[in-house]
Amino acid sequence: MVLKKGREKPLLNRHPWIFSGAIERIEGDPKAGDAVYVTTLKGDFMGVAVFNPVSQITGRIMSWQDQDLDDDYWHDAIHQSVNRRAWLNLEPNTNGYRLINAESDGIPGLIVDKYDDYLVFQCLTKGIDVRKDQILSQLQNLTFPNSNQPKAIVERSDAGVRKKEGLAQTSGIASGSIPDDGIWFLENDLSFKVDLLNGHKSGFYLDQRDNRQLLGLKSLVEGKRVLNCFAYTGGFSAYAAHSDASQVISVDTSIPSLELAEQNVLKNTPNRPNDEFIAGNVFDVLRHYQEHDEQFDVIVLDPPKFAHSAKDINKATRGYRDINLLGMDILRPGGKLLTFSCSGLISADLFQKIVFGATVDANRQATILKSLHQSADHTVSMHFPEGYYLKGFLLEVQ
Ligand code: SAH
Repeated sequence: MVLKKGREKPLLNRHPWIFSGAIERIEGDPKAGDAVYVTTLKGDFMGVAVFNPVSQITGRIMSWQDQDLDDDYWHDAIHQSVNRRAWLNLEPNTNGYRLINAESDGIPGLIVDKYDDYLVFQCLTKGIDVRKDQILSQLQNLTFPNSNQPKAIVERSDAGVRKKEGLAQTSGIASGSIPDDGIWFLENDLSFKVDLLNGHKSGFYLDQRDNRQLLGLKSLVEGKRVLNCFAYTGGFSAYAAHSDASQVISVDTSIPSLELAEQNVLKNTPNRPNDEFIAGNVFDVLRHYQEHDEQFDVIVLDPPKFAHSAKDINKATRGYRDINLLGMDILRPGGKLLTFSCSGLISADLFQKIVFGATVDANRQATILKSLHQSADHTVSMHFPEGYYLKGFLLEVQ
């Protein structure tokens, strides 16, 4: 693959993507998924990429060195990524976390998460999809402190982005077996049940671990009334309940998610007579509380991605503004708001401006007590800033 004149710049900065428009010509007759050499127009070697003519991102650099994508490559790439998490010292209190974060760990298109003794992987590109067996045999041999080799490996290649690579969605058990009624894993010593085959992402929003732990501070929630919006399977709710919030209300549109949320809360904190699990649209539920003058001490707003492409940015901006305004309206003076955006296209700076606008419109004053980010196992490569997607604030709102 030969690049157009001057189009090697991003690669010189070690950004791994090669867009179709940057390519001068393809040499030989590579098939989708094949490894190809990438050179400048002058013939200088840039790296080894996987090729996919169907995708706008026609090449993704898998190695900056001249090497085959053989078993040694996969062994080294996977171990380097897994070892990158060792400093976090998560086990044994936390045994659910991300092992490989695709581009951000130098392996474009591959995501691997661990839940107790189970692994879940996602192939997001053709280059990864055609090498599934090679990758699986490496994953099978991984060992972890305080736990065994994987009991099962689950494939969750059902993300929408596969379409752009010309790939169908697929999921299932790739090896081993999993219990029918789901598995339990530990996060900061709390137990969570996860449905690896049908849950969102790989089953759980592991990226919010540090922010859930923050909400679990007794100094924030003990004796307080907490509203967890977009609760999914009750991650934030379980921490708040465990730290003796007087009431935790979880809101989500998904009834199966709320059923799991209730199990997760009660598993960790058995006696919670005041808690509620409300199936409904957060926008409507917040308006209902507003109309009925209900107030909360702590509110979590962790909506799904509102901006999927550049054309969504204005609409997403309004969405974030509206929920933050509604949330602030029902927050007691001095109350705390944990507010997030997981839209990569909404920068931290823009998100801060949106929440500022909502604060002014709500006629309140807010202090940023802490800026919040995705947990550290969801690495961000300096060379791939797109990997920093989850941002948020802990606010005190007067
Ligand atoms: N905070 C969660 C993750 C939230 S994911 C955690 O820590 O695990 C976003 C959730 O929002 C999903 O469960 C989805 O079902 C829910 N959702 C999406 N749109 C919604 C809406 N308008 N009202 C309520 N829930 C919604």
